[in-house]
Amino acid sequence: MSKLEPGINILVVEDEPQIRKFLLMAIQAEQFNAFPAETGERGLIEVGTRKPDIVIMDLGLPDMDGVEVIRQIRTWSNVPIIVLSARTQEHEKIEALDAGADDFLTKPFGAGELLARIRAQLRRRAVSPDSVNSVVRFGNIKIDLAKRQIYRDGIQVQLTPTEYRLLTVLVREANRVVSQRQLLKEVWGPNAVESSHYLRIYMGHLRNKLEDNPTQPQYFITELGVGYRLLINPDEVH
Ligand code: CA
Repeated sequence: MSKLEPGINILVVEDEPQIRKFLLMAIQAEQFNAFPAETGERGLIEVGTRKPDIVIMDLGLPDMDGVEVIRQIRTWSNVPIIVLSARTQEHEKIEALDAGADDFLTKPFGAGELLARIRAQLRRRAVSPDSVNSVVRFGNIKIDLAKRQIYRDGIQVQLTPTEYRLLTVLVREANRVVSQRQLLKEVWGPNAVESSHYLRIYMGHLRNKLEDNPTQPQYFITELGVGYRLLINPDEVH
């Protein structure tokens, strides 16, 4: 890839004006579209609305931890995330990668290095196109993953953080069977992989809140002895 394709949108989440300006200029000089966000909260909104092709994310943000921003993005989007960190933030960089960041740049860095990392992510994306819409609808349910809001018949439904995490994993794997072990690991952590009663309880909560008839679920399907499946598009399931 010598010259980059146009129409690529890059979101820059960085609170320091000088660095933000440098990033925007370097990106725009390559004929990409660059959009700034000065806070983590703004960044989350921009990821949801602009659907960027790449996110450049500073870890030291004024309103929230950059790692937490990444975790939230990763509940509903696979957009490539390149993290910017200071040399003193080594452990945060590892945390950011564990949270789902794809690459990192250590400050200070030059425009050439930045663009090389962007190109690398665009090449990866070309091989594995995989992104999830931020709004998912099925039946009378609407899930706005960017805003973390769930509606049933247009009325907002409140979920606990655990219920929400379970829902987001099922949405990400929509129409696929997800094993009990995988769900337990992703929602409750690696020490909970044997605690399948958690799943029965919380799947019951989701059915009570989101199914018309919780005893005969249409969406939150039990795959006996295997796991669960969120059935949102019956045509895609054999
Ligand atoms: Ca900063």
